[in-house]
Amino acid sequence: MAPNVDIDTVSAPALFIEKAPLERYVAPEKPSLLGMSRAELAEVLGECGVPPAQRKMRVQQLWHWIYFRGATSFDDMTTMSKELRAALPVRYTLARPEVIAEQVSVDGTRKWLMRLPGDADSKLPHDVECVYIPDTERGTLCVSSQVGCTLNCTFCHTGTQRLVRNLTAGEIVGQVMAARDRLGDWPGGTRPTDGVIPAGARCVTNIVMMGMGEPLYNFDAVRDALLIVSDGEGIGISKRRITLSTSGVVPNIIRAGAEIGCMLAISLHAVRDDLRNELVPLNRKYPIAELLDACRNYPGASNAKRITFEYVMLKDVNDSIEEAKALVRLLKGIPAKINLIPFNPWPGSKYECSDWEQIEKFSAVVFDAGYASPVRTPRGRDIFAACGQLKSATEKLSARERQALRAMAMTD
Ligand code: SAH
Ligand code: SF4
Repeated sequence: MAPNVDIDTVSAPALFIEKAPLERYVAPEKPSLLGMSRAELAEVLGECGVPPAQRKMRVQQLWHWIYFRGATSFDDMTTMSKELRAALPVRYTLARPEVIAEQVSVDGTRKWLMRLPGDADSKLPHDVECVYIPDTERGTLCVSSQVGCTLNCTFCHTGTQRLVRNLTAGEIVGQVMAARDRLGDWPGGTRPTDGVIPAGARCVTNIVMMGMGEPLYNFDAVRDALLIVSDGEGIGISKRRITLSTSGVVPNIIRAGAEIGCMLAISLHAVRDDLRNELVPLNRKYPIAELLDACRNYPGASNAKRITFEYVMLKDVNDSIEEAKALVRLLKGIPAKINLIPFNPWPGSKYECSDWEQIEKFSAVVFDAGYASPVRTPRGRDIFAACGQLKSATEKLSARERQALRAMAMTD
């Protein structure tokens, strides 16, 4: 092993496909009601003395206050009895992830650092990033599903992060709610005066599960959270406006279609297995042919509900015209959209973004094959909020730690 090699600058070794998840999580003393199903809320109400016959109606009220109005205190729930308003906070909270930092990009993109209950051993909190990308007509929230990621895509900053735990359903819904709190995006709320806010009635109109983590490796929590986010009696964001992005966890793709029913995005990034094995090491487990088969069978996919294929543009790695043609051939017969993502560099990354000219040539091939406007404009690069740049601020590895991690990877 070469001395003084920085883990961030070496390609993922073959045996380093997945890091062991560290499920070291200290549950808060009082749990938050966020993320609970209606059935769980009915149990909570039972504990607080609500008789069975009244529970359904009370659950409806509670749901409305939490998810439609965005109540942050039980005191605000004026349609509920005083006794219940007093009993609930004895055992439960309405806590969302705590926003500990906010950055606003010159293009209006906002990035929040959100703090979550932490680590059982060191008592350190965990944190995740959540990014709001406003446009004139829509506002897209990019939500995280894990602290870090157990996968090691070589072009992704999150993939270099060591500390990993799955987020709970409450923490996933909680990011949406904390973002709406910050944006005044509840009935009667006050919008920020800086940045960019879309013209319509709502600030957050779309959700993308494209923040930190692999959502299909935290399936149950992501499903439960997205069913709450899309519930028409609460936050009410339609499933057609929710996109889940996966690096290709094939067995859970079909489940996502059946159990969540949201839009799907696949991080494809290469048209050949040898290259994809390197860029997205999970490809060794689920190669391209299997991945595309799962896409062909994705419930609900149609020309009106296309699957997005993401393709990060890496200079001299995957950006040749031959590869553009192969991409179009590969996706034939799948109702697809193609999204070319200019590579967003991060400190220590070993790739460069393709030249603009090359991106245009590549995109022309894709365009000529019938796919509209395929290049995604990078947003929030100045605040390090663009795709693949997210990483917890608490995750600052010392050179020694990186060296140790590298040694572990080599001896695995
Ligand atoms: N884990 C999921 C979702 C999070 S990543 C997934 O991999 O799909 C969201 C998107 O950003 C993915 O398509 C990912 O491949 C892409 N991405 C990661 N790092 C990037 C980078 N440095 N520049 C551009 N896109 C990147
Ligand atoms: Fe994880 Fe997605 Fe980054 Fe790959 S691209 S390391 S799956 S977050």
